[in-house]
Amino acid sequence: MRAPYASDPALSRGRRYPQSPAPTRTEFQRDRDRIVHSTAFRRLVYKTQVFLNHEGDLFRTRLTHSLEVAQLGRSMARTLGLDEDLVEAIALAHDLGHTPFGHAGQDALDACMVGHGGFEHNLQSLRVVDHLEARYPEFDGLNLCFETREGILKHCSRHNAQLIEAHEPVFADGQGGVGARFLRRAQPSLEAQLCNLADEIAYNAHDIDDGVRSGLISLEQVQQVPLFARFSEQAARANGGLAHKPRRWLYETVRLMLSGQIYDLIESTQIAIEHSGPADVQAVRNCPPLVQFSPAMQQETAQLKAFLYASLYRHPRVQETMDKARQVVGDLFTAYVQDPAVMQTSADAETAPLPLYRRVADYIAGMTDRFASREHQRLTGRVLLA
Ligand code: MG
Repeated sequence: MRAPYASDPALSRGRRYPQSPAPTRTEFQRDRDRIVHSTAFRRLVYKTQVFLNHEGDLFRTRLTHSLEVAQLGRSMARTLGLDEDLVEAIALAHDLGHTPFGHAGQDALDACMVGHGGFEHNLQSLRVVDHLEARYPEFDGLNLCFETREGILKHCSRHNAQLIEAHEPVFADGQGGVGARFLRRAQPSLEAQLCNLADEIAYNAHDIDDGVRSGLISLEQVQQVPLFARFSEQAARANGGLAHKPRRWLYETVRLMLSGQIYDLIESTQIAIEHSGPADVQAVRNCPPLVQFSPAMQQETAQLKAFLYASLYRHPRVQETMDKARQVVGDLFTAYVQDPAVMQTSADAETAPLPLYRRVADYIAGMTDRFASREHQRLTGRVLLA
C-alpha cells in the first residue's frame, strides 16, 4: 500500500521530452526498464567495486552491488509504503557514472579535469541517463522522470547545481529541476533517501564479506568492530560449533547485521515520519532527512566504515593496484587529448559539440576495467594491469 508521503508515478513531475503513458507499466517501472536495457548498465558487470574485476570471480562488481542495493531498497520500501519501482530504478542507476577501477579511477579522472569542470561520478550518473546513452531516435539519454533523476543526483555542489539548473526543463509547477534542492537545501523523496542508506548498508556488508574472503582482512580483525562483534556473538550463541566453520560464521554474522540495520532503519524512519507528519512528497522535500538509523546504529555503522577504510580500502595490496589504475587513467587521458582520433567512439554518440576534455572524460568514464587496460596496452605498449 502506497503511503501518502510516497512518490506516486501517476503524479510524476514528468520527463524532459513528454511521452504518452505506457499501456501496462507505471512511469517508474518504465524508468527501471530503460535503465536495465541501457549500455551503461551492462558495463557495470566489468567495473570494479573494491577488487578489480580480474582479481577473482566471486567478488562484487558494480553490477552485483547495484542489484544488492536494489534488493535491500525494495524490501525496506515495501514495509515503509514507498514506491518500490522508483527505489529499484534509482538503485540500479546510482552507480552508472562510475569510472573503471572504482574510486582510484574517479580520483585520477578528476585530477585530469582540474580547470575543465572536474569529474564526479554522481554527476556523471546523471549525465549518462540525461545525455550519453544514445538509444532513442528522437533524443539523447533515457529521458527519465524527474523523480528518478532526483534520486540519482545524490549530492552536488552549489556551483554544479547552478550549472544543472540552467539546463533543466521548465516544470509546470514552477519548482525548478534536480539541482534546485541543493540551492534551497531541501531533501529528495523518501525513495531517494532510502537508496542512499541502502547503498551504505550494502557496501558495508559486502566489503566485509569480500574483504575476509580475499584474505586481506581476517575474521578476528572484523570481530574487533563493535557492530560486527555484536552480531558475531549472537550468531555463535544461537549456533553451536560455528567457531569451527569460519565461512558460515562470517555469512551468518553478515546476514544478522544486514537484518539488524534494516530493522533499525525501518523503525527509526517510521518514528521520524510520524514526528514530522509530511502530508505528501512535496512536504517530504521540505522536512529534514527522514530516512535514518537510530543514533546508536548511526555511530556503529560509522565505526565499521572507518574500519573498512583503514584496513581494506587502504590495504597495501589494494593501494598497489589502485596506484596502477590511476596511472592507466592518467595515461589514457593524455593519449586521447594529444590525439582525439585514437578514441573509438561511435557516430551515434551525443551530437552536441563538447569541449575535448569533457569528451575524453566521458569516454574514459564509460570504459570497463578490462577495456581500459587493453586500451592502455594498445596506446602505450605497456602492461600495467593484466
Ligand atoms: Mg553504490
